[in-house]
Amino acid sequence: MEVWAAQMNLIERSARTVLDAYSSLPNRNDYAVVFDIDDTLISVRGFGITPIMNLYRYAQELGFFVVIVTARANGPGSQDYTLRQLTEYDISHPRLLYLRPSHDHPDSFKTGARLHVQDHHKKQVIMSLGDSKCDVGDFGGIGFLLPRI
Ligand SMILES: [Mg+2]
Repeated sequence: MEVWAAQMNLIERSARTVLDAYSSLPNRNDYAVVFDIDDTLISVRGFGITPIMNLYRYAQELGFFVVIVTARANGPGSQDYTLRQLTEYDISHPRLLYLRPSHDHPDSFKTGARLHVQDHHKKQVIMSLGDSKCDVGDFGGIGFLLPRI
């Protein structure tokens, strides 16, 4: 747990450096930062992951286009549930929230969601963060693959 917490703090610091560097570009709203939820912003053990929540807020404060892509299955009420949970953890809502259609495989869904941010919403994804390999990669910019506890 201690090593994990230390690593999360290091990742927060590194990722802030990247965001600071990108901040010199005009129109930060044209650049997206993509977060996963489970074991990224919120531990499945039921606590908020402070360094990543702070990074999320920092990206929003700087004016980047903050997106959440989660492999939680999209069913009746699941979007409302997820938005309520974000509010409970004092995580303000993202500009876009992608929930996985239940027939989609998480890998192709997450890559497809990032491509959708790029091609449909015309935002370049500069950074993506998550605890699964599919959270980083194609159309994800600089990827931070987070350690699990
Ligand atoms: Mg996850």
